Amino acid sequence: MNICFHGVGVPDRTLEPGEAPYWISPSLFHAVLDEVAGHGGVRISFDDGNASDVEIGLPALLDRGLQATFFVLAGRLGARGSLGEDDIRELDAQGMVIGTHGMDHVPWRGLDDAVRDRELVAARDRISTVVGRRVDEAALPLGRYDRRLLGQLRGLGYAHVHTSDRAHARPGAWLQPRFSVVGTDTVSRLRADVLGPQPVRRRIGRSAVMFAKRLR
Ligand SMILES: [Zn+2]
Repeated sequence: MNICFHGVGVPDRTLEPGEAPYWISPSLFHAVLDEVAGHGGVRISFDDGNASDVEIGLPALLDRGLQATFFVLAGRLGARGSLGEDDIRELDAQGMVIGTHGMDHVPWRGLDDAVRDRELVAARDRISTVVGRRVDEAALPLGRYDRRLLGQLRGLGYAHVHTSDRAHARPGAWLQPRFSVVGTDTVSRLRADVLGPQPVRRRIGRSAVMFAKRLR
């Protein structure tokens, strides 16, 4: 099971259209982490490289002995409300994994060659340089993908690619679906919908959606 956070608390930058629902309160964030800490097999990630990753996320993870992967945006490093280079190195030094979410938070599906190079190659190079180690985990901005994009990511040597498909993940699989926690979620709903056993009908429906995306 993979769960994904975006912003926690109050953003210190102008949000993108449609982004606000992905910001959650610190109290919901802490309650979800408490719930996750009691479950084996739940992996945590943070997208978008918000400053709250290091201000709220990191101490809460360390308090509970949890590890997470942080998918950061190379184009926002050091911008107001976003992580700076020192923050990324701090996350790495504290045992967290750093991945790439690209440069400018644009969908990766259907990119022309120049933008693809910027998003998939230059962004990863930039983040790798900051961390001082190879970055080979990616999270797809806005969750969009198709077969061509996945082929390109494989060709570029990404070890795992993380989506937002709200399906259960197979351990070790190259493509890792995730559940994003949103502001209207509650711990009891997550327990029922995400962390508990899944009805077969729902599992099959979600797998079918991913299968269709991979083929298109
Ligand atoms: Zn994102």
